[in-house]
Amino acid sequence: MNISVMGTGYVGLVTGTCLAEAGNNVRCIDLDPKKVEMINSGKSPIYEPGLEEMLKKNLGSRIKATLDADSAIMDSEITFICVGTPSSEDGSTDLKYIKSAAEKIGEVLAQKEGKHVVVVKSTVPPGTSEKIAEILRAKGAKDFGVAMNPEFLREGKAVNDFMKPDRVVLGAKESWVHEKLKELYSFTDASKLETTLRTAEMIKYASNSLLATKISFANEIGNVCKELGIDVYDVMKGVGMDARISPQFLNSGIGFGGSCFPKDVNSLIHTAKENNADPKLLEAVMAVNESQPLKLVELAKKKLGVFSGKKVAVLGLAFKPDTDDMREAPSLKIVPALVKEGALVKAYDPEAMENAKALLGDGFAYASSAKEAVEDAEIVFILTEWKEFSDESLYSERQVFDGRKLLRKKSGKNYEGVCW
Ligand code: NAD
Repeated sequence: MNISVMGTGYVGLVTGTCLAEAGNNVRCIDLDPKKVEMINSGKSPIYEPGLEEMLKKNLGSRIKATLDADSAIMDSEITFICVGTPSSEDGSTDLKYIKSAAEKIGEVLAQKEGKHVVVVKSTVPPGTSEKIAEILRAKGAKDFGVAMNPEFLREGKAVNDFMKPDRVVLGAKESWVHEKLKELYSFTDASKLETTLRTAEMIKYASNSLLATKISFANEIGNVCKELGIDVYDVMKGVGMDARISPQFLNSGIGFGGSCFPKDVNSLIHTAKENNADPKLLEAVMAVNESQPLKLVELAKKKLGVFSGKKVAVLGLAFKPDTDDMREAPSLKIVPALVKEGALVKAYDPEAMENAKALLGDGFAYASSAKEAVEDAEIVFILTEWKEFSDESLYSERQVFDGRKLLRKKSGKNYEGVCW
C-alpha cells in the first residue's frame, strides 16, 4: 500500500520504517528540514537499536522522507498522524500539532479522488479523533474514514515492538476502515482488537496509567522495605510469580520518566477532573513519582553528610537504557540537586549527551566515557541501567548510590540502593 506518515519522531519514523520493511511504499513527512535530510541520507535522527539498519535497507526503494506534505498525502491511501502531543501547563494535552496536521490533511483530501484513511497514532484524549474528522470535513474532505490506532512501542525496543506487537488496537466507526487496517497489519499475527475511536483512545491512557501505577506501587513498597532492611527486589520476585500480577514493571528505583508515562497520566487526571471524576489513585501515582528521584540524594546525604567539594560521577542521564530520550528523566532532578549541594559533578551517558546538554546546561562537567566520569570520583550515582555500567571495575573503592539495582547488590558499606 502507499502510506504517508506525518511526524518522524520516535513513533513516526519507527512506524514508517517498519511499514516499509513490511512491503509498503512510505513517505515520511516532517516540518524539520534537518530530520528529512538525515533520514534521506540513511541516518536516524533518534537513537533506536536496529532502526538505522532497517531504514538504510529500505531507503530509496520503499521509504523516503519529505517536507512536501501535499504530494505525500495525495499519492497515498493511508495517512498516519504521529506528531507530538505534549503536556500543557495544567496537565491537559496540547493538541496544536494534531490540529495543524489535520488541517493540512483536510486541505489535500479536499482535492483528492478515492477513499483515504487517516490513522491517529499519536496519543490523544478521548473524543479527539472525532474532532479530527470534523476538521477534515470542514476543510472539504469527503471520501475518508478516521481510525485510532494507539502505539504501544517501548523506546529502546521500538522496532521489535512494532513488528511483533502484543496486540493491535483498531478504533474506527466504519467497517471498511477496520478491514483496510487489518490488511495493513497482516504482517503480524498479533490479535487485532476492533473497537470504537473513543475506546481505542482510552485503551492507550489506561494501559500507560496501569504500568505507571505498578512502578509507583513498587517504589512505595520499596521505600517501606528500605526502612525495614528488606530487599524489595526479593519481595517483588515473590509478588511477580503470581500469574495474576506478572513480574513486569515491578522494578523499584528512582521513578519513571520519558515522553509518555508522566504526560499520559497527567492527561488522564485532567480528563477525569474535567468530567467530574475524582482520580485519587492516579494523583497518588504521580505524587510518589515526583518525590522518588530525590530520595537517592537524601540517602547519600544521610550516609555521607555534606557533598560540598566532593567529586561525584553520574552514570546515565537518559530516562532508560537504549535510548537518547531525556524527556522527564529522573537525572533532570538529581543532577541539579547534586550541583546545588556543592558536588563537583562529572556526568556521562552513552547516547543522550547531546540531548542532556540541551536540557541540563553546562553548570557541571561531562565526560566522554564511563571510565573518564569515574576516574577521580569518590562517589558514583547510577541513574540509568545501561549494560556497560554493570562493569564492576568502574566502582572499586568508590561509594556507589544505585537508583536502578544495576549492580544486583545488597546495601552495605560502599553500596547503597534507593529501595534496597
Ligand atoms: P516526537 O516529538 O519525537 O516527534 C514528533 C515529530 O512530529 C517531530 O519530528 C515534529 O517535527 C513532527 N511534526 C510536528 N508537526 C508536524 C506536522 N504538521 N507535519 C509533519 N511533522 C510534524 O514525538 P514522539 O515521541 O514520536 O510521539 C509522537 C506521539 O506518539 C505522541 O502523541 C506520543 O504520546 C505518542 N507515543 C510516543 C511513544 C514514545 O515512546 N515516544 C510511544 C507511544 C506513543
